[in-house]
Amino acid sequence: MSVDLHLHSTISDGSESPADIVELAVAAGLSAIALTDHDILDGIPEARAAAEMRDLLFIPGTELSVDWGGAAMHMLMYFLEPGRGPLQDRLLAVREGRSIRNVAIIAALQSHGIDITLEEVAAVAGEGSTGRPHIARVLIEKEVVGSMPEAFDTWLATGRPGYVSRVRLDAFEAIDLARQSGAVPVIAHPHTLGLGADEYAGAFIDLTTAGLGGIEAYYTEYSQDLREHLAGICDDLGIAATGGSDFHGTYKPDIQVGIGLGDLLVPDDSIQQLVAQTGR
Ligand code: AMP
Ligand code: ZN
Ligand code: FE
Ligand code: FE
Repeated sequence: MSVDLHLHSTISDGSESPADIVELAVAAGLSAIALTDHDILDGIPEARAAAEMRDLLFIPGTELSVDWGGAAMHMLMYFLEPGRGPLQDRLLAVREGRSIRNVAIIAALQSHGIDITLEEVAAVAGEGSTGRPHIARVLIEKEVVGSMPEAFDTWLATGRPGYVSRVRLDAFEAIDLARQSGAVPVIAHPHTLGLGADEYAGAFIDLTTAGLGGIEAYYTEYSQDLREHLAGICDDLGIAATGGSDFHGTYKPDIQVGIGLGDLLVPDDSIQQLVAQTGR
């Protein structure tokens, strides 16, 4: 059986509710999932209750954007429980930073003559963590752009007219806070760091010494070779090789729970490897 440890719900920038994601995971024949909404843990209780009813192993989590020597790194934090805690408390400040940034993005778009308001974005985003994909969806609905990629390429990606940066935790600080909070930090989709395949082996030694617990080796956009290469590096570093679809529902329509673009298969063993990291 396989698992999916990277899933976004309506609580951040996904289109399906936490309970619906559990049903999709059951339909896909998965044995375990993790919910990893951006900067927020509010979907955990609903997903956990639904998973319990379905005998699906559930791992609480979140995905955080951190600064790694100037590069934007996404970190998945597993076994992070809702409530108070060193990392949990910082998530409040991170979400506050998101709100400030959303106001600035809307102002920048308006200054370029685009008719868009924060209220319209809020209506699309609903409860929880609001981000650029919600803004992109409003741009699509208003026919300012034709697609999600076009919204980013034209307006929202780094360097584009609607881009606004936001405060990010340092990667090492994030690892520290995660460990203090009982969570296992894992590097998400490492290809976004702009490294060559031969650079991965050396790149994460310092982070591993600092408490990194894994790397997302099984990612749907990767060749089988790259997945195995990354899993081998995890093995060498003594950390977990994890994986997931990065499912966002209709926000990333080609990606399905469990199988990603079609050929994703994250081995069950990822769970044991992750659990082994909780004791570090
Ligand atoms: P935010 O968290 O508000 O900075 O938005 C980041 C999210 O936007 C990512 O997690 C992706 O889901 C999505 N995203 C980022 N870049 C692109 C892109 N070029 N095309 C489509 N979606 C993107
Ligand atoms: Zn997302
Ligand atoms: Fe990500
Ligand atoms: Fe993600």
